[in-house]
Amino acid sequence: MQKLNDDNYYSQAANEAFFSVSQYKDFCKCEAMALAKIRGEFEQKQTKAMLIGTLVDRWFEGTLDKLREESPNIFYCRNGALRADFRKADEIIKRVQKDDRFMLYMSGEKQKILTFEMFGAPWKMKMDSFVQDICITDLKVVQNFKSLAFWRYDLQGAVYQAGVETCGYGRLPFYLAATTKEAVTDFDIFQIDQPTLDMALREIEGKLPRFIAVKAGLEKPHYCGVCDYCKSVKKARIRNYSELLEG
Ligand SMILES: [Zn+2]
Repeated sequence: MQKLNDDNYYSQAANEAFFSVSQYKDFCKCEAMALAKIRGEFEQKQTKAMLIGTLVDRWFEGTLDKLREESPNIFYCRNGALRADFRKADEIIKRVQKDDRFMLYMSGEKQKILTFEMFGAPWKMKMDSFVQDICITDLKVVQNFKSLAFWRYDLQGAVYQAGVETCGYGRLPFYLAATTKEAVTDFDIFQIDQPTLDMALREIEGKLPRFIAVKAGLEKPHYCGVCDYCKSVKKARIRNYSELLEG
């Protein structure tokens, strides 16, 4: 695998060669789905709600124009105006832009890619904002603050902190620059504290040997049976109607 850059970071070759936070989370959810994604046999459908986050990401990255060229019909109408579904992204950008602290945490080097070895496997990561010697910040556009914990960003913080340290940049704090898609946008900077990051890293260390073996084809993947991938490859079973009435 050659050096990772913006063009090949999300490629199949890169996903086969490296673990990433999202790949690790896929393995936790369903090993069969994770493998299918790595092999390019399955792609998670992007919802409109997720694409609002993409727009905000790309604005901070300074690549909105490129996005407009790449996918002209998804985000924009023929007359060039942003589609109604995505106006929330515009509102969020306009709101956080007026906040000095939010912009300060997002003012680092954008989309910096690092690769490193950890727990016996090669890893890749891409940071939203990296301020050398100061902090790592990841931008999150979520439904509301309560949903932040659901997405397990502690795992991301743990890997990013470890990656930055392994690559010789020292141990830096990890922050989420979070904004909400609520009717009136809320936004704050959340620090994930060190004990939480340490615990998340230990969790990854514990689970990774199994995932490395599955990814290498040494062990058979477990099928969760309920995810979109499992549904797409399943065969019909005879089931008892009564099981639907339980619980
Ligand atoms: Zn599954």
